[in-house]
Amino acid sequence: MRFISTRGLSPSLGFSDAVATGLAPDGGLYLPESLPPFSAAELSRLASLGYAELCFEFLRRFATDVPAAALREMIQRSYATFSHPDIAPLVRLQDDLYVLELFHGPTLAFKDFALQLLGNLYEHQCRQRGERINVLGATSGDTGSAAIHGLLGKPGTAIFILYPEGRTSPLQERQMACTGATNVHALAIEGTFDDAQAIVKELFGDQAFRIGHRLSAVNSINLARVLAQCVYYLFAWLRLPQRVAREAEFVVPTGNFGNVLAGWMLQRMGVPLRGFRVATNQNDILYRLFTTGEYRVGAVAPSLAPSMDIQIASNFERFLYYSVRRDGARVREIMQTFRNTGRYVFDSFDRATFTASRCTDDEIARLIGHAHRTWGYVADPHTACGFKDLAPDRPSVVLATASPAKFPETLKQVLGFEPTDPSLELLKRRPLSKHLLPARTEAVRAFVEAHAV
Ligand SMILES: *Cc1c(COP(=O)(O)O)cnc(C)c1O
Repeated sequence: MRFISTRGLSPSLGFSDAVATGLAPDGGLYLPESLPPFSAAELSRLASLGYAELCFEFLRRFATDVPAAALREMIQRSYATFSHPDIAPLVRLQDDLYVLELFHGPTLAFKDFALQLLGNLYEHQCRQRGERINVLGATSGDTGSAAIHGLLGKPGTAIFILYPEGRTSPLQERQMACTGATNVHALAIEGTFDDAQAIVKELFGDQAFRIGHRLSAVNSINLARVLAQCVYYLFAWLRLPQRVAREAEFVVPTGNFGNVLAGWMLQRMGVPLRGFRVATNQNDILYRLFTTGEYRVGAVAPSLAPSMDIQIASNFERFLYYSVRRDGARVREIMQTFRNTGRYVFDSFDRATFTASRCTDDEIARLIGHAHRTWGYVADPHTACGFKDLAPDRPSVVLATASPAKFPETLKQVLGFEPTDPSLELLKRRPLSKHLLPARTEAVRAFVEAHAV
């Protein structure tokens, strides 16, 4: 299988190179050149597989340049770090309402599904090619810790994660700074998330530095992330009662559009998922798009669901590519218009498949209370956005993207108690190892130079 850029100006690559490259040289995002369909017979054959084996059967169609035995072994190791035997347990709250829990990985958020695997893919490539890799990224919370836990202690790799000092939650900071691994560097920047991101951008812009240190990005656009995320939709679909599977709307708490895109791609592979609801918080660019057809950036307003505080959904470009019938020139034109004007109006997209909802902080609090009173279910603030506007006439499967134990302050305020998780309790007893740096590119550059592998 080859992988092509959404902007149509970069040569196609094999799986391993597309994963290693991240962003395509023409500024586009990689996608498989075709989406091989699943036949009904194949789907029924897959129905009995456990999560890791299902993931292998799915990914082998794409990762054709990785030897099957190595791929299977990497996948098994990636999901062996999850604490629940089902990996992605499906919980039934009432007749037609299910929750797909995606937070049983090491950092208790759904990003572990992709980043555990990505870490193992990076390690495999380093070993295969005798190379080293230094991962550099900025985070406001979940992505950084999931990336760190994907690379924890892996030989040939180091990871540097910048975050704004004092502005992540104490638990998020502990997940980054209490790992005890010598290849992990948690860099607390005396500035904002935007400062941290600007520094990372500048360092990546320095060709000599980037190539010299074999810098690699950690972000939501890596091809392997989207593919890894397709698997839990398939897993859930195979496990739901037939009628529910056929009719259910998958409700996806969304920021970057990465999660919901994965489900939609699976639908394009012939798995009959009925539809998706794009569930946003008050940062509602995607809600506005799917209700009005207009894609327009707004200002980001911090919310109770911080991992969805996003106003440009980077993965959206992949959806756009399919929406304009895989016309790379058209994607370039639209992205250019969007960059120049901050808006774009679609004349058509897959309206039959998507609905959308938007949730203010007050509503998040109300829905956390509602879920607890009605079903005895403790939902985190991101998952709570999914409980807004549940379809009255068909089943829903709400994707639970984070554990409530990650947000003790909000839960305490709303429910009067703090949910806990053993892995977080363990972190509280470990020493914090972080490096406080001024918000200056040179300070970070010097640190990376001194600690790169
Ligand atoms: C990242 C994240 C999201 C948003 O995922 P996207 O792929 O950006 O749509 C939602 N919930 C949680 C807990 C997250 O960490």
